[in-house]
Amino acid sequence: MGFLARLLLPRKVRRARHPGRTAKRAVTPKLVKKVRRALHPIDNAKYSAERSIATSLRSGKEKRKAPINPVYMHGNCSVRHRTAEAAARCRNG
Ligand SMILES: [Zn+2]
Repeated sequence: MGFLARLLLPRKVRRARHPGRTAKRAVTPKLVKKVRRALHPIDNAKYSAERSIATSLRSGKEKRKAPINPVYMHGNCSVRHRTAEAAARCRNG
């Protein structure tokens, strides 16, 4: 271990003398990479969640906007009458 200690100690001392440079070079890129890696999946999850919420809201609005009107059909008539009277008056059958 004595050999390794002699090799490593001078480097540590050099780094300590120039903390600004080494900190920027050595620490920042690693941190940025880690942050980017961590943020991407979160962003995707957030985006998909927002999208699913948006689609659910949209579908709800569509249901409210286009209510299913009652349709009166009879016999062989292919016309979808809006009222029972119309179906009764229809000539097609
Ligand atoms: Zn009819």
